[in-house]
Amino acid sequence: MKIAIVGGGIGGLATALAMTQAGFTVMVYERSAQLVDQGAGITLAPNATRVLYHLGLGPGLEETSVTPPMTEYRHYRTGAVIMRMMTKDFRALYGAPYMRLHRWDLQHAMITRLAEVAPGAFRLGSGVERLESRGDHVQLRFADGRVEIADAVVAADGIRSSIRETLFNPAPPVFAGFVAWRGLVDTADLPRHLHESAVAFGHGRHINRYLVRSGELLNFIAVAHRDKWEAEGWTIPAPLDEFLEEFASFDEGTRTVISRPVLGQVFKWGLFGRPWLEQWSSGRVVLLGDAAHPMLPFLGQGAANALEDAMILTRCLTSESTPERAFALYQKTRGPRVRSATEQAVRRGDRYLGEPNEDSLKGDEPGAQYAYDAVSGPLGG
Ligand SMILES: Cc1cc2nc3c(=O)[nH]c(=O)nc-3n(C[C@H](O)[C@H](O)[C@H](O)COP(=O)(O)OP(=O)(O)OC[C@H]3O[C@@H](n4cnc5c(N)ncnc54)[C@H](O)[C@@H]3O)c2cc1C
Repeated sequence: MKIAIVGGGIGGLATALAMTQAGFTVMVYERSAQLVDQGAGITLAPNATRVLYHLGLGPGLEETSVTPPMTEYRHYRTGAVIMRMMTKDFRALYGAPYMRLHRWDLQHAMITRLAEVAPGAFRLGSGVERLESRGDHVQLRFADGRVEIADAVVAADGIRSSIRETLFNPAPPVFAGFVAWRGLVDTADLPRHLHESAVAFGHGRHINRYLVRSGELLNFIAVAHRDKWEAEGWTIPAPLDEFLEEFASFDEGTRTVISRPVLGQVFKWGLFGRPWLEQWSSGRVVLLGDAAHPMLPFLGQGAANALEDAMILTRCLTSESTPERAFALYQKTRGPRVRSATEQAVRRGDRYLGEPNEDSLKGDEPGAQYAYDAVSGPLGG
């Protein structure tokens, strides 16, 4: 069976790797002419790394990933420690580690692996404009007029998925009331005591920072409330002085970190959501990752759920006799879990930007997600 995957993000690449491993023929069509390092970190919990190990990526990622001994949650103004969370032995608890990575290291590892197991399957500069279902196959029409045929299509085209809007629900993404900034700091430019994992929060603001790339870089993500936001994309340059002014009330350590981004570069973007979608498939087309269920970042589980989707969808296609039956089983398996994670991320965001005290950190702990086993857990929910 030939499967076309629209979108070469974490979800699309994981789907291509999992399906190739299961014996399907895949093609990944990515709109961008080239993939670039977007300068950001990513946290991958055991439920995500379990999938990456299954796909053969674990040992390579271990070379640059960082697992902090602990994360401190601190009062945004005084820097006083509100809660200290020691990192548990996740391999012993869940059979998979907790990793913090440079996003590019992850994306690069996935693309390299795909080139090894399915040479030529990754096509850059291939924006899909329209899908047409034709009985037992789907026709893909590209922006340059080209046409391809596949037995089934996985739409992993992200939160702004045009396939979702055309085939499932035309409603555009909705601004969630938060703006985020991100940057990377060379740890050589920081005093030793700031080479750490910490979250400073309170007064409607929050800054999460952690080491990536073997500790050579420190990634930070800062979030604040906003009433409205109009720009698109997540690589909008933010003036450094404007950003520092926004977080001027934060403690000295946090301010030192955010004032030293590599090349003085900070990027900003608005956080968006979409109403919950009950039906993720139509005939032989199915949504996956952010296209199906965008999630606020406060749980660190958006990419993790895209990885889980990839694994479960592949297993459903292997176990069912038709793509339509497989997509129904995938929806049944994934729907309840993803919905609860999506709602949990919203609640956690409210707390994370709330009062800087211990109560704000209680409930909806991300750890509740970690035991999920997309590789060998039951299908069908
Ligand atoms: C601030 C922030 C921090 C985050 N931190 C974490 C974290 O620590 N841990 C975690 O698990 N998750 C995290 N996430 C969530 C995570 O980044 C996303 O959930 C994940 O990247 C979604 O992957 P995806 O493949 O579904 O979509 P995307 O990564 O958006 O990929 C979609 C791809 O499709 C392509 N595309 C779009 N339209 C077309 C088309 N018509 N034709 C061809 N190609 C197309 C795009 O160019 C893009 O490459 C975070 C998100 C944010 C915003």
